[in-house]
Amino acid sequence: MTFSATVLTLYPEMFPGPLGQSLAGRALADGIWSLSARNIRDFATDKHRSVDDTPAGGGPGMVLRADIVAAALDGVANGTPVIAMTPRGAPLTQAKVRTLAAGPGVTLLCGRFEGFDERLFAARAIEEVSIGDYILSGGEVAAIVLLDACVRLLPGVMGAALSAVEESFESGLLEHPHYTRPPEWEGLAIPEVLRSGDHAKIAAWRSARSEEDTRLRRPDLWERHIGVRGRSPSGARGKKKEE
Ligand code: SAM
Repeated sequence: MTFSATVLTLYPEMFPGPLGQSLAGRALADGIWSLSARNIRDFATDKHRSVDDTPAGGGPGMVLRADIVAAALDGVANGTPVIAMTPRGAPLTQAKVRTLAAGPGVTLLCGRFEGFDERLFAARAIEEVSIGDYILSGGEVAAIVLLDACVRLLPGVMGAALSAVEESFESGLLEHPHYTRPPEWEGLAIPEVLRSGDHAKIAAWRSARSEEDTRLRRPDLWERHIGVRGRSPSGARGKKKEE
């Protein structure tokens, strides 16, 4: 089944952009996923093809009109979940990406200016997703981020399926660091254990580094991880509590 991506934007020429290259580009050419970028302006009703208006209550900038964006959404409706890229949305996570990649596709709404008239979200089933706590000038780059994350998980896109399973966030932890040749560079050696050939020791080292790096770099993820472990009967915290 082809994963169907539909993007509603004022800048359809920004697509496929980076998604036309490398893994995603090959998968697009191979028909593993499809992409349709539609101009919201095509659904405007006046001769100027206007899509925005001044904010109610005053203030700077312009707001995307709910009636025009809704007409665009209705015009491209194909049964895939609709996501608006907004800084106020739920933060994008690998779990969300996995859920989307397992489905039929997605319809993405890209905002511009001050964003969308809020009534759009009351009138249509639309999820809001943010790619981080910063403001982009438009939703297109955010849509590209979301699609890139989804497409690489589609069957047949990545060579080694295992590499996706071991990656950062898949287990709730950051991934261990990687090294490659040369064995020594600028006085820095690859950790001895990785050259030992002892697979059990290597796995233990990787797991320990994954935990340590998560604890030091992302205390928020670490807290969640040990919280989850504490709740599971086999978790280290759970055992400690029983002692
Ligand atoms: N006035 C809005 C606010 O303060 O929340 C920001 C609007 S922003 C300049 C224009 C558009 O860029 C948004 O409607 C949204 O589509 C997109 N955008 C900006 N930052 C984003 C983010 N962190 N995640 C997802 N989309 C974002």
